[in-house]
Amino acid sequence: MAKLIDGKAFAEGLRGRIAKAVAELKAGQGFTPGLAVVLVGEDPASKVYVANKAKQTVEVGMNSWEYKLPAETPEAEVLALVEKLNADPAVHGILVQLPLPKHIDSTKVLTAISPAKDVDGFHVVNVGKLSTGQDSLVPCTPVGSVMLARDVLGKLDGLEAVVIGRSNIVGKPVAQLLLAENCTVTIAHSRTKDLPAVVRRADLVIAAVGRPEMVKGDWLKPGACVIDVGINRIERDGKGKLVGDCDFASCEKVAGSITPVPGGVGPMTIACLLYNTVKAACAAKGIRQPEM
Ligand code: NDP
Repeated sequence: MAKLIDGKAFAEGLRGRIAKAVAELKAGQGFTPGLAVVLVGEDPASKVYVANKAKQTVEVGMNSWEYKLPAETPEAEVLALVEKLNADPAVHGILVQLPLPKHIDSTKVLTAISPAKDVDGFHVVNVGKLSTGQDSLVPCTPVGSVMLARDVLGKLDGLEAVVIGRSNIVGKPVAQLLLAENCTVTIAHSRTKDLPAVVRRADLVIAAVGRPEMVKGDWLKPGACVIDVGINRIERDGKGKLVGDCDFASCEKVAGSITPVPGGVGPMTIACLLYNTVKAACAAKGIRQPEM
């Protein structure tokens, strides 16, 4: 049976180290890192997510600002708010919650965020820096996924890694991070031929597809590490349930280690957002980032 990778516990530990770093910055440098989150509209999942972000930001001792705008807010007003937050020295990180209502151009809004405050790591400047090996703000879920893989496998050097999914939010940045860790990386997608055979090569599988329980145990190399990024809501036995992109029951019999859903990659995302905010704050102040 595979070792269970406890993302909840890892994220809790990381938040503890972030809280310690924030306390050190307050005492030693006299400033408090701060994160502003902008939510436009009433998407229920986004509301829960934004409330969790605010709660955890305060829990680690950082400043938190929430801007909740009605769904019909004109694009120009959202852009004006982003400009205001860009200019505010107390705000070190800005996150605009996606998805935005249809009348707002997400790319335009994300590009308006100052790259130095882009704690989601979606700005083209940060994407470019990541792909050219420069220090940058990196998207949270990919960073969290690689942290978990490193925690269980140690050095990733030379491993065969297969990333399933090529989105800008997960697949591509996770592949860049694994390349930087000296993995041999394959990126699979919906046009990949014989996906099971491709996945069977992998010492490390990162699944970011959005298809419930797609990856089966007999696709895996025995002993592989499986990081399941997928979050899919399904109906089973008349009840709602969250499942990943990997079929946990069959995969845990073959894998060496595996993340559960929920409780694997999910909790890492907000912890990494807080990490990025401390990183952005230290860069803005021109000081060394404390150990986290
Ligand atoms: P996208 O829909 O943007 O991308 C999905 C990718 O999967 C695409 O590249 C697509 O290929 C590929 N794909 C789709 N079907 C297949 C298939 N049958 N075989 C192989 N590849 C396929 O999703 P995201 O990257 O945004 O998210 C992926 C999953 O991760 C979702 O379940 C999402 O909920 C979850 N997620 C979890 C987060 C967290 O833990 N906090 C954060 C973000 C996402 P193609 O490009 O060819 O269409």
